[in-house]
Amino acid sequence: MKIHARHVLSGQNWLKDCRITLVEGRIANIEEGMPVAAADYSVDVLLPSLGNLHSHTFQRAMAGMTEFRAAGKESFWTWRELMYRFLDHLTPEQFEAIAAMVFMEMQEAGYASVGEFHYVHHQPGGSPYTRLSELSERIFAAASQTGIGLTHLPVLYTYGGVNQEPLAGGQLRFANDVDRFLSLTEACRDNLSSLPADAQVGIAPHSLRATSPADLTHVLKETPQGPIHIHISEQLREVADVEARLGQRPVAWLLDNVDVDTRWCLIHATHMTEAETISMAKSGAVAGLCPITEANLGDGPFSGPTYLEGGGRFGLGSDSNIRISLTEELRTLEYSQRLRDLNRNVLVVGEGSVGKALYTGAALGGAQALGRDAGIVEIGKLADLVAIDRSHPALCTLQDDQLLDGLCFVAPDTIVTDTWSAGRHVVQDGRHRERDSIIARYRAALSDLLEAV
Ligand code: ZN
Repeated sequence: MKIHARHVLSGQNWLKDCRITLVEGRIANIEEGMPVAAADYSVDVLLPSLGNLHSHTFQRAMAGMTEFRAAGKESFWTWRELMYRFLDHLTPEQFEAIAAMVFMEMQEAGYASVGEFHYVHHQPGGSPYTRLSELSERIFAAASQTGIGLTHLPVLYTYGGVNQEPLAGGQLRFANDVDRFLSLTEACRDNLSSLPADAQVGIAPHSLRATSPADLTHVLKETPQGPIHIHISEQLREVADVEARLGQRPVAWLLDNVDVDTRWCLIHATHMTEAETISMAKSGAVAGLCPITEANLGDGPFSGPTYLEGGGRFGLGSDSNIRISLTEELRTLEYSQRLRDLNRNVLVVGEGSVGKALYTGAALGGAQALGRDAGIVEIGKLADLVAIDRSHPALCTLQDDQLLDGLCFVAPDTIVTDTWSAGRHVVQDGRHRERDSIIARYRAALSDLLEAV
């Protein structure tokens, strides 16, 4: 396929009137100064698409249902209570229908790829399915239908707390010891042949609460290649529990006891000391920031300025999928910093466009975290691309170097016209190619699920 784009962001530079040739999912050539007629398809502004580095697809089904306070209950109760009620009933068919809906919404929002942090493995009550990787295969099927670039991250979840409490109730669907987890990841790798070549399987020890130091060491020894994702320091209680058990705060413990490097993505990393923030920035790992979910759950803001000054890498995830919006994710990240610091233009080192720093930083960090050779429009890279409409009133008055500020702070979600996932042209004119059938199946699946709960 040959795409003509009036404006292309390549690295930090804007190129004009380019013809981009895609071959086997990659960018084979970029030629400047070409006429529209020299291509098969034309767009206005072409950008590297972002990878959505953290998602739990099934939680999308709960969006909007837990935004009320129950008398006499702590504020997390409504969310947790509904999640476990869903888990008592969720079937593999429903799981797949929800995942397809979420992946489609991500692509329409401008994400080309996703890291699915997948922790529901077994039947209600905890018995494995006949095929241990049944629910992972449902994620694969949803990725296949939507064409999204999948980095599948099976989760090791063994304990109910940092003191190795046994799992109970809805958590039994998550449970694996190390041996069964390794069998599961192997089964997932065996199934990769059902997906295009850009798909891959990493691992995700759920958190320092749900695994033990010995199990973590064992799993990392057996599957060292990455990507490796872990939830860490999301909430203050977790920090206190880990400190009481392991003698250090979670990020400090991980950095001191495990070889954290560019294979790693630390999800949230919200509550860090300055020393933890600087050490994490130097590690080469990616901070997996989920600003909309972190705001929705009341987690708190990330230590952005210290981390970026230390050279820290970051990317974006939609986590609970309460709302899937790339533009809102970007602006919520910056606004969380402004509200805390009583300042403007916070997440840019030195001087320059905040939108450009956020967008290009998240594109590279997301690609690293998902193990994708992408995040930048360059010859040889995967064709993870997104096109936006510069003639839209939100952008039509802006200069080149203001465009990404317009995208981050002004534009509606509908600014996205096209998305390519490793060259697969999945969104055109703002619509996913299988939109109608995916939504119909989601509606039917949710109707059955809600009747059951
Ligand atoms: Zn999460």
